[in-house]
Amino acid sequence: MRAPMVAANWKMNGSKAICREFLQHFDADGSLDVVLFPPFLYTSILIEGFAERSISVGVQNVSNVSSGAYTGEISAEMAVDSGATYGLVGHSERRNLFGESDGLVAEKFIACQRAGLTPVLCVGESLDERQEGRAESVVAGQIDVILKSVGIKAFANAVIAYEPVWAIGTGETARPDQAQSMHAFIRAFLTKSDATTAKNTRVLYGGSVNANTAAELFAEGDIDGGLVGGASLEFKEFAKICRAISR
Ligand code: PEP
Repeated sequence: MRAPMVAANWKMNGSKAICREFLQHFDADGSLDVVLFPPFLYTSILIEGFAERSISVGVQNVSNVSSGAYTGEISAEMAVDSGATYGLVGHSERRNLFGESDGLVAEKFIACQRAGLTPVLCVGESLDERQEGRAESVVAGQIDVILKSVGIKAFANAVIAYEPVWAIGTGETARPDQAQSMHAFIRAFLTKSDATTAKNTRVLYGGSVNANTAAELFAEGDIDGGLVGGASLEFKEFAKICRAISR
Protein backbone atom coordinates (compact mmCIF):
# COMPACT_ATOMS: atom_id res chain seq x y z
CA MET A 1 0.00 0.00 0.00
CA ARG A 2 1.46 3.37 -1.02
CA ALA A 3 1.08 6.04 1.67
CA PRO A 4 -0.36 9.23 0.18
CA MET A 5 1.89 12.26 0.07
CA VAL A 6 1.31 15.96 -0.46
CA ALA A 7 4.37 18.18 -0.93
CA ALA A 8 4.67 21.96 -1.04
CA ASN A 9 7.20 23.56 -3.39
CA TRP A 10 7.47 27.17 -2.28
CA LYS A 11 9.99 27.91 -5.05
CA MET A 12 11.74 31.28 -4.37
CA ASN A 13 8.79 32.50 -2.31
CA GLY A 14 8.06 32.69 1.39
CA SER A 15 9.33 34.59 4.39
CA LYS A 16 9.88 34.12 8.09
CA ALA A 17 6.32 35.41 8.59
CA ILE A 18 4.89 32.69 6.32
CA CYS A 19 6.96 30.07 8.15
CA ARG A 20 5.48 31.31 11.44
CA GLU A 21 1.94 31.10 10.02
CA PHE A 22 2.52 27.47 9.04
CA LEU A 23 4.06 26.66 12.41
CA GLN A 24 1.13 28.22 14.27
CA HIS A 25 -1.77 27.00 12.15
CA PHE A 26 -0.81 24.11 9.89
CA ASP A 27 -0.95 20.47 10.89
CA ALA A 28 -1.61 17.16 9.20
CA ASP A 29 -3.30 14.14 10.69
CA GLY A 30 -0.63 11.51 10.14
CA SER A 31 -2.66 9.56 7.55
CA LEU A 32 -0.52 11.09 4.83
CA ASP A 33 3.08 12.23 4.43
CA VAL A 34 3.40 16.00 4.17
CA VAL A 35 6.67 17.51 2.96
CA LEU A 36 7.42 21.24 2.79
CA PHE A 37 10.10 22.44 0.37
CA PRO A 38 10.83 26.05 1.43
CA PRO A 39 13.84 28.02 0.19
CA PHE A 40 16.89 26.57 1.95
CA LEU A 41 17.25 29.61 4.27
CA TYR A 42 13.95 28.73 5.93
CA THR A 43 14.45 24.99 6.31
CA SER A 44 15.86 25.16 9.86
CA ILE A 45 12.97 27.27 11.17
CA LEU A 46 10.47 24.73 9.84
CA ILE A 47 12.50 21.66 10.81
CA GLU A 48 12.81 22.87 14.41
CA GLY A 49 9.24 24.12 14.60
CA PHE A 50 7.70 20.95 13.21
CA ALA A 51 9.99 18.57 15.14
CA GLU A 52 7.13 17.24 17.26
CA ARG A 53 4.69 16.94 14.35
CA SER A 54 4.72 14.47 11.47
CA ILE A 55 5.65 17.06 8.85
CA SER A 56 8.86 16.67 6.87
CA VAL A 57 11.02 19.35 5.34
CA GLY A 58 13.02 19.00 2.15
CA VAL A 59 15.31 21.10 -0.01
CA GLN A 60 14.49 22.37 -3.49
CA ASN A 61 17.95 21.76 -4.90
CA VAL A 62 21.27 20.19 -3.99
CA SER A 63 24.72 20.24 -5.55
CA ASN A 64 25.88 17.15 -7.37
CA VAL A 65 29.05 17.15 -5.24
CA SER A 66 29.52 16.85 -1.47
CA SER A 67 31.73 19.81 -0.56
CA GLY A 68 34.44 22.12 -1.81
CA ALA A 69 35.01 25.36 -3.70
CA TYR A 70 31.52 25.71 -5.19
CA THR A 71 30.36 29.16 -4.07
CA GLY A 72 26.64 29.40 -3.55
CA GLU A 73 25.97 25.66 -3.64
CA ILE A 74 24.48 23.49 -0.92
CA SER A 75 25.24 19.79 -0.68
CA ALA A 76 22.84 16.98 0.11
CA GLU A 77 25.03 16.19 3.14
CA MET A 78 24.46 19.74 4.46
CA ALA A 79 20.73 19.36 3.92
CA VAL A 80 20.76 16.14 5.95
CA ASP A 81 22.93 17.82 8.60
CA SER A 82 20.29 20.54 8.95
CA GLY A 83 17.52 17.95 9.37
CA ALA A 84 16.00 17.85 5.88
CA THR A 85 14.80 14.46 4.67
CA TYR A 86 13.78 14.99 1.02
CA GLY A 87 15.42 16.62 -2.01
CA LEU A 88 13.65 17.85 -5.16
CA VAL A 89 15.54 16.99 -8.34
CA GLY A 90 14.76 17.61 -12.00
CA HIS A 91 12.13 20.31 -11.50
CA SER A 92 11.34 21.81 -14.90
CA GLU A 93 12.38 25.27 -13.66
CA ARG A 94 15.84 23.88 -12.87
CA ARG A 95 15.96 22.07 -16.20
CA ASN A 96 14.73 25.01 -18.29
CA LEU A 97 15.93 28.14 -16.45
CA PHE A 98 19.20 26.78 -15.09
CA GLY A 99 20.08 24.41 -17.93
CA GLU A 100 20.16 21.24 -15.84
CA SER A 101 20.70 18.30 -18.16
CA ASP A 102 19.36 14.79 -17.62
CA GLY A 103 22.92 13.81 -16.67
CA LEU A 104 23.16 16.47 -13.96
CA VAL A 105 19.70 15.55 -12.68
CA ALA A 106 20.91 11.95 -12.34
CA GLU A 107 24.01 13.11 -10.43
CA LYS A 108 21.85 15.15 -8.06
CA PHE A 109 19.50 12.18 -7.59
CA ILE A 110 22.51 10.02 -6.67
CA ALA A 111 23.88 12.76 -4.37
CA CYS A 112 20.57 12.84 -2.48
CA GLN A 113 20.50 9.09 -1.93
CA ARG A 114 24.20 8.95 -1.03
CA ALA A 115 23.63 11.53 1.72
CA GLY A 116 20.38 10.01 2.98
CA LEU A 117 17.80 12.33 1.40
CA THR A 118 14.84 10.78 -0.40
CA PRO A 119 14.83 12.27 -3.90
CA VAL A 120 11.59 13.50 -5.44
CA LEU A 121 12.30 13.20 -9.16
CA CYS A 122 10.25 15.63 -11.27
CA VAL A 123 9.46 14.57 -14.83
CA GLY A 124 7.14 15.99 -17.45
CA GLU A 125 6.70 17.02 -21.04
CA SER A 126 6.37 20.49 -22.57
CA LEU A 127 3.27 21.56 -24.50
CA ASP A 128 5.07 21.07 -27.83
CA GLU A 129 6.14 17.59 -26.85
CA ARG A 130 2.56 16.69 -25.89
CA GLN A 131 1.15 18.14 -29.09
CA GLU A 132 3.72 16.19 -31.11
CA GLY A 133 2.57 12.97 -29.37
CA ARG A 134 5.87 12.57 -27.52
CA ALA A 135 4.71 13.04 -23.91
CA GLU A 136 5.21 9.41 -22.88
CA SER A 137 8.57 9.00 -24.58
CA VAL A 138 9.90 12.21 -22.97
CA VAL A 139 8.82 11.10 -19.50
CA ALA A 140 10.16 7.57 -20.07
CA GLY A 141 13.48 9.08 -21.17
CA GLN A 142 13.73 11.21 -18.02
CA ILE A 143 13.15 8.14 -15.83
CA ASP A 144 15.40 5.95 -17.94
CA VAL A 145 18.41 8.20 -17.25
CA ILE A 146 18.06 7.30 -13.57
CA LEU A 147 17.44 3.61 -14.32
CA LYS A 148 20.56 3.49 -16.49
CA SER A 149 22.78 5.17 -13.89
CA VAL A 150 21.45 3.54 -10.72
CA GLY A 151 19.16 0.69 -11.76
CA ILE A 152 15.64 0.01 -10.51
CA LYS A 153 16.91 -0.02 -6.90
CA ALA A 154 16.99 3.79 -7.28
CA PHE A 155 13.22 3.79 -6.84
CA ALA A 156 13.17 1.68 -3.68
CA ASN A 157 13.60 4.99 -1.84
CA ALA A 158 12.44 7.76 -4.16
CA VAL A 159 9.27 9.52 -5.21
CA ILE A 160 8.36 10.53 -8.75
CA ALA A 161 6.41 13.72 -9.45
CA TYR A 162 4.75 13.92 -12.85
CA GLU A 163 4.58 17.62 -13.65
CA PRO A 164 3.54 18.48 -17.20
CA VAL A 165 5.46 21.68 -17.92
CA TRP A 166 2.39 23.25 -19.56
CA ALA A 167 0.49 22.94 -16.27
CA ILE A 168 3.12 24.42 -13.93
CA GLY A 169 2.19 27.87 -12.71
CA THR A 170 -0.24 28.34 -15.61
CA GLY A 171 -3.53 27.71 -13.83
CA GLU A 172 -4.17 24.91 -16.33
CA THR A 173 -4.38 21.62 -14.42
CA ALA A 174 -4.15 18.37 -16.37
CA ARG A 175 -7.52 16.62 -16.52
CA PRO A 176 -7.67 13.76 -13.98
CA ASP A 177 -7.91 11.17 -16.79
CA GLN A 178 -4.94 12.74 -18.60
CA ALA A 179 -2.83 12.69 -15.43
CA GLN A 180 -3.97 9.16 -14.51
CA SER A 181 -3.01 7.93 -17.97
CA MET A 182 0.55 9.24 -17.58
CA HIS A 183 0.83 7.93 -14.02
CA ALA A 184 -0.27 4.47 -15.19
CA PHE A 185 2.26 4.70 -18.01
CA ILE A 186 5.04 5.57 -15.49
CA ARG A 187 4.09 2.59 -13.33
CA ALA A 188 4.00 0.28 -16.35
CA PHE A 189 7.40 1.61 -17.43
CA LEU A 190 8.89 0.82 -13.99
CA THR A 191 7.18 -2.60 -14.04
CA LYS A 192 9.38 -3.59 -16.97
CA SER A 193 12.33 -3.42 -14.54
CA ASP A 194 10.64 -4.66 -11.36
CA ALA A 195 6.94 -5.11 -10.62
CA THR A 196 7.23 -4.79 -6.84
CA THR A 197 9.16 -1.53 -6.99
CA ALA A 198 6.69 -0.20 -9.56
CA LYS A 199 3.76 -1.08 -7.31
CA ASN A 200 5.36 0.60 -4.28
CA THR A 201 6.72 3.78 -5.87
CA ARG A 202 4.70 6.87 -5.14
CA VAL A 203 3.90 9.00 -8.18
CA LEU A 204 2.65 12.51 -7.35
CA TYR A 205 0.91 14.87 -9.74
CA GLY A 206 2.03 18.51 -9.95
CA GLY A 207 0.79 21.40 -12.05
CA SER A 208 -1.61 24.08 -10.83
CA VAL A 209 -3.19 21.84 -8.19
CA ASN A 210 -5.51 23.78 -5.90
CA ALA A 211 -8.21 23.06 -3.36
CA ASN A 212 -10.84 22.82 -6.11
CA THR A 213 -8.99 20.37 -8.34
CA ALA A 214 -7.14 18.22 -5.79
CA ALA A 215 -9.85 15.74 -4.77
CA GLU A 216 -10.67 14.64 -8.34
CA LEU A 217 -6.99 14.21 -9.20
CA PHE A 218 -6.15 12.36 -5.99
CA ALA A 219 -9.10 9.98 -6.52
CA GLU A 220 -7.34 8.42 -9.53
CA GLY A 221 -5.80 5.02 -8.78
CA ASP A 222 -2.22 5.79 -9.79
CA ILE A 223 -2.07 9.33 -8.40
CA ASP A 224 -0.59 9.04 -4.91
CA GLY A 225 -0.78 12.70 -4.01
CA GLY A 226 0.48 16.02 -5.24
CA LEU A 227 3.41 18.38 -5.54
CA VAL A 228 1.90 21.81 -5.10
CA GLY A 229 3.54 25.11 -6.00
CA GLY A 230 1.57 28.36 -5.93
CA ALA A 231 -1.30 27.05 -3.81
CA SER A 232 1.06 25.78 -1.10
CA LEU A 233 2.09 29.18 0.23
CA GLU A 234 -1.20 29.85 1.94
CA PHE A 235 -1.60 27.45 4.86
CA LYS A 236 -5.41 27.26 4.69
CA GLU A 237 -5.41 26.41 0.98
CA PHE A 238 -2.60 23.90 1.42
CA ALA A 239 -4.43 22.28 4.36
CA LYS A 240 -7.54 21.90 2.17
CA ILE A 241 -5.43 20.22 -0.52
CA CYS A 242 -3.99 17.85 2.09
CA ARG A 243 -7.49 17.00 3.29
CA ALA A 244 -8.54 16.23 -0.29
CA ILE A 245 -6.59 13.00 -0.22
CA SER A 246 -8.25 10.15 1.61
CA ARG A 247 -7.08 6.57 1.23
C1 PEP B 1 5.67 23.16 -8.96
O1 PEP B 1 6.38 24.15 -9.00
O2 PEP B 1 6.16 22.05 -8.70
C2 PEP B 1 4.24 23.32 -9.25
C3 PEP B 1 3.52 22.26 -9.41
O3 PEP B 1 3.78 24.61 -9.32
P1 PEP B 1 2.24 25.09 -9.45
O4 PEP B 1 1.42 24.25 -8.48
O5 PEP B 1 2.27 26.53 -9.08
O6 PEP B 1 1.82 24.83 -10.86
